[in-house]
Amino acid sequence: MNPVAKLQCENCHAMIPADSPKCPYCGALNALGSEKQYMEQLSDIKEDVEELQQIPVDAYRKEMNKTGKMILITILVLALIAGIIGGFYWCFNKIIYSTISEADPKQQLMWEKENYPVLDELYAQEDYYGILSFMDEHCDDEGYSIYNWEHYDFIEVYRFYENYMYTASIIESGNFNEDDVKWCIVDALFVLRELNYVTYTEQDEEQIAKYREVVCEFMKKQFGMTQEEIDKLYQDSCVEEEYGVVFDYKKAQENAEKIAKEYMKQN
Ligand SMILES: [Zn+2]
Repeated sequence: MNPVAKLQCENCHAMIPADSPKCPYCGALNALGSEKQYMEQLSDIKEDVEELQQIPVDAYRKEMNKTGKMILITILVLALIAGIIGGFYWCFNKIIYSTISEADPKQQLMWEKENYPVLDELYAQEDYYGILSFMDEHCDDEGYSIYNWEHYDFIEVYRFYENYMYTASIIESGNFNEDDVKWCIVDALFVLRELNYVTYTEQDEEQIAKYREVVCEFMKKQFGMTQEEIDKLYQDSCVEEEYGVVFDYKKAQENAEKIAKEYMKQN
């Protein structure tokens, strides 16, 4: 069901897809996920330098005198050093500014024209998993964004619902550990998460309402919680900020951990 390789986010310790450049839970950069991208970029630089070496050597080899060769070698060494420094600088920027190579605006716009209809079609077929796979391929690997796609905010909720379904299925199988319980609760809380700046269509809202019902029913059935307890758990997973009450992934994890510990004692 979920064949994606996972690793732990260094910031919030959530299990996230290994090749995802950003953690879906806390938004932190996943260095390993972006490493793949910058290693590819580095190997491009290396190839460029090799090409640079090839062209002049082939063209001038015969007429080249010793001085000429020395100059050429100097140029090549400088080019190689520049390439390496450029590569390191690029990696450095990648890490410091967590800039996941973004497509340029013109390219992005053309890409949207071509691909938003594909996304709309997947959405119409309710193939939300297909949309997540599409995002893995085009957004994470190629740097395109779908932030202004009509159902983007919905699909971000669906992502956590998908994760929840996976962890819930492990718990239902009976072969689970404390971490599975913890992450199942965290995923459920992310499905319940209320955000301030989101736009949902009517259909988005209907779907999200269904997902929330499913996760609440599961917590009642599996962990013997009442709706009041679920509401309280959610409130306890929020913090008061200047601009209002916001969901806090750290508190959510702490709360989920407590419930998971208790649950493992009883089961
Ligand atoms: Zn994280």
